[in-house]
Amino acid sequence: MSLLSVEGLAKRFGGVHAVVDVSFTLEAGEMLAIIGPNGAGKSTCFNMINGQLPPDAGSIRLDGREIAGRPPNDIWRLGVGRTFQVAATFSSMTVLENIQLATLSHGRSINRFWRPMARYPEAEARALLDQVGMGDQARRACGDLAYGDVKRVELAIALANNPKLLLMDEPTAGMAPKERIAMMTLTQELARQRGIGVLFTEHSMDAVFGFADRLLVLARGRLIAQGTPDAVRNDPAARSAYFGSDRAFEGIRT
Ligand code: ADP
Ligand code: MG
Repeated sequence: MSLLSVEGLAKRFGGVHAVVDVSFTLEAGEMLAIIGPNGAGKSTCFNMINGQLPPDAGSIRLDGREIAGRPPNDIWRLGVGRTFQVAATFSSMTVLENIQLATLSHGRSINRFWRPMARYPEAEARALLDQVGMGDQARRACGDLAYGDVKRVELAIALANNPKLLLMDEPTAGMAPKERIAMMTLTQELARQRGIGVLFTEHSMDAVFGFADRLLVLARGRLIAQGTPDAVRNDPAARSAYFGSDRAFEGIRT
């Protein structure tokens, strides 16, 4: 049984068919990238898997359990983490405090102001920060961090819930190439060490082809190709649909 099994997923916004009959699987420890031009339906897929959007049709199974249409908090509790909400960090609080509140701010039915003792333990929060390379910045306010470091904190927040599946919608958007590679390397290490399945989108083809075990190619809501980076790089449908050019993936370093 796959960690994530998606079948016949569909979503329409008025007359726009954002996602059309998309099916795929994702295994524990695997890095799976969704690529496709702007408007291809990548974020809509993510938002259906994390519960932000109810699908019009289709099945989403996590470890065999149907989660399609369930509320985001339920899905989060079942082990689906995500990193793409920049607003998930509180800028006036320290990095450490953000991690300690992480498991609460994701909507457990307790109020963090009247249950201060329910904080995530400091030692564990520090261990998570060490894992994402932010241990030495634990006492800084999140609002003072560089953008790439906020993304690392978000990753640590997602890990605090011990996710089985991590959804990363453009985790390295706005990063310089070096920072981007560091972030993807870290994510890959965590996926391998903890057996987390990672589903991610990226505009950077270096990140996609360098770090994904497999790729899904979406165009106008439809899955038009999937496979290993090599297979997709040589797939004519993927090449022409992705950039409208047969030379789309030339010069990609892996
Ligand atoms: P991607 O993430 O691949 O760029 P999206 O999933 O954001 O693509 O969008 C897919 C299509 O659905 C686009 O045509 C987009 O304009 C449309 N769309 C996405 N979200 C909404 C929404 N909330 N309301 C209306 N149309 C939407
Ligand atoms: Mg998007």
